[in-house]
Amino acid sequence: MGKYHGKATTVLRPRTTKEVSDIVKWCAKRRIGIVPQGGNTGLVGGSVSLDKEVVLNLGAMSNVRSFDPVSGILVADAGCILESLGDYIAPHNYIMPLDLGAKGSCQIGGNIATNAGGLRLLRYGSLHGSVLGLEVVLPDGTILDQLSTLRKDNTATHNVMLALPRFDNILPLFQAVKRDLGEILSAFEYIDRTAYDTAVAHGHARVFTDEEMQGAQCFVLIETSGGNNDHDEQKITELLESLLTADKPLVLTGVLSQSPAQFASLWALREGLPEALQKEGKPYKYDISIPIADFERVVDSCRDQLKSRGLYGDHAVSKVVGWGHIGDGNLHINVIAKQGYTPEIEQALEPFIYEVVSSLKGSISAEHGIGSMKPHALHYSKSSASIEWMKKLKETFDPLNIMNPGKVLP
Ligand SMILES: Cc1cc2nc3c(=O)[nH]c(=O)nc-3n(C[C@H](O)[C@H](O)[C@H](O)COP(=O)(O)OP(=O)(O)OC[C@H]3O[C@@H](n4cnc5c(N)ncnc54)[C@H](O)[C@@H]3O)c2cc1C
Repeated sequence: MGKYHGKATTVLRPRTTKEVSDIVKWCAKRRIGIVPQGGNTGLVGGSVSLDKEVVLNLGAMSNVRSFDPVSGILVADAGCILESLGDYIAPHNYIMPLDLGAKGSCQIGGNIATNAGGLRLLRYGSLHGSVLGLEVVLPDGTILDQLSTLRKDNTATHNVMLALPRFDNILPLFQAVKRDLGEILSAFEYIDRTAYDTAVAHGHARVFTDEEMQGAQCFVLIETSGGNNDHDEQKITELLESLLTADKPLVLTGVLSQSPAQFASLWALREGLPEALQKEGKPYKYDISIPIADFERVVDSCRDQLKSRGLYGDHAVSKVVGWGHIGDGNLHINVIAKQGYTPEIEQALEPFIYEVVSSLKGSISAEHGIGSMKPHALHYSKSSASIEWMKKLKETFDPLNIMNPGKVLP
């Protein structure tokens, strides 16, 4: 995003837990702030040293310690790249229980620190539910070993992209899909028309013909992950048939992937949205949880807000787009500032978006965390009592406040 600029003079890359502990002890003694850093893909400035804190980068701790193909338990260093872990377990017919566009760079330690959501939350639940234990270095350097080692998965995957004539069809569609696919439904992703068009304009393979695109207002990408390939394929094929032949169809058309390459290409379009938008200007990114029925209205209201301040158009904001994970009510709003970030645009967006979220009783951070971007806005989705308790917890573990000072808490 080019929004946060690190001021660190020192980056340390420990290779073992003992080395992490030594560094933390040394810093604690001298009251030097530490910013733990994983793949540095976070979008809220959490891994950036804003006040010359030492950066403790985990990239050199990238060993898999063990994998048990019977129980499916993986023990890995914090610095292992998410995609590498997926590659490591794939020959045993396993997958990681989370998937996100940044998988080629983000690290498992960073994923757990942010409780990353991603594309498969619908199927596998919150990442914290998949973490059986942790080995942590506390802010005084003590190593707390709570690694305990149960869970497995073994899957066949399919996907289908659907074009919808109107956003209002999403909720009944989600209900129908949940009813027909049941437990094999693993992702249900929403993409608005502008986001889709931007991805295609920047090189992603077109899914629908020009004729099919007429009247398409938004899109849904559905993935199944079940244990029986033939059964799963039959279920998703029957779903598509019944959607297309219904008396009052909820969808205009749909494309079911017919090969691993097409499966990957549908996902690439969805996962490539941030990068495609980035090519058009500087993105303001909001990652919020709100009721699904309000997704489109909230994106439209951001656009209207910018228009009312005279900030919409090629001279300022050229696009406001929305996409997200329907299953957990997580909407990503991206506002593209064609000529770069400006205080006027920021003031038009904030606290406007946070107030909208608060009025809908949503969360200002669905999955990207608070970092250094949102501490000032935490009160829009956490009560003052919650914030006080969060501060007390932080003080208990980190009384010197050397661990990532200035992040999360106001
Ligand atoms: C293209 C793209 C797509 C994305 N999609 C998603 C998505 O679908 N869902 C989602 O949730 N996020 C998404 N993100 C955001 C980001 O990838 C996640 O937050 C990811 O979990 C961060 O991992 P990281 O290793 O890069 O952590 P970093 O960015 O390096 O750090 C994030 C935070 O975790 C802390 N941290 C990192 N490692 C450790 C450690 N070992 N111990 C303690 N603290 C640590 C850092 O101090 C920082 O506060 C996306 C980002 C990009 C660029």
